[in-house]
Amino acid sequence: MHLVADGGGALLRDLAGALREASEQVRLCTRCGGITTATEPVCRLCTSSQRDGHLICVVEEPGAIGAIEASGAFRGRYHALFGRLSPMHGEGPKDLRLDALVARIADEGIQEVVLALGTDVESEATSAYIRERLRTLPVRVTRLASGLPAGSGPMYADVVTLARAVQGRREM
Ligand SMILES: [Zn+2]
Repeated sequence: MHLVADGGGALLRDLAGALREASEQVRLCTRCGGITTATEPVCRLCTSSQRDGHLICVVEEPGAIGAIEASGAFRGRYHALFGRLSPMHGEGPKDLRLDALVARIADEGIQEVVLALGTDVESEATSAYIRERLRTLPVRVTRLASGLPAGSGPMYADVVTLARAVQGRREM
């Protein structure tokens, strides 16, 4: 057999090539900051006509988008901040994608912003900051219902808990 004959070298080369190609193909969506591919600068969650374009869910990191999608409870769009306010680590409002969020609210006619940040002190402070920042805009601001594990966030919750938190979101 071919594989045996060359000690599996060809298979390993194919696999390595496929992995390299896959990593070269991964990009961050220019709109929401989620994962997309080199050929689609704006991801499918952003462009899909099946999603509710009036609803936007704000997360700290792109990885949380997948977690919330897995819960199946959210049908709007997303916005990743790429961090949170963290004075200890020198992370201020300018380090987050907040201007982009404000611009999207106007450009896309967003009616509700769902804050799905973590539950520890820095994330709570970030949620409060965003709430104030959006105070003058004609938009509802809600947050996930409590119930997520203390000191964690959407990435660490099971899908059932997360779905309940999304469905039970409340006004801030
Ligand atoms: Zn996107």
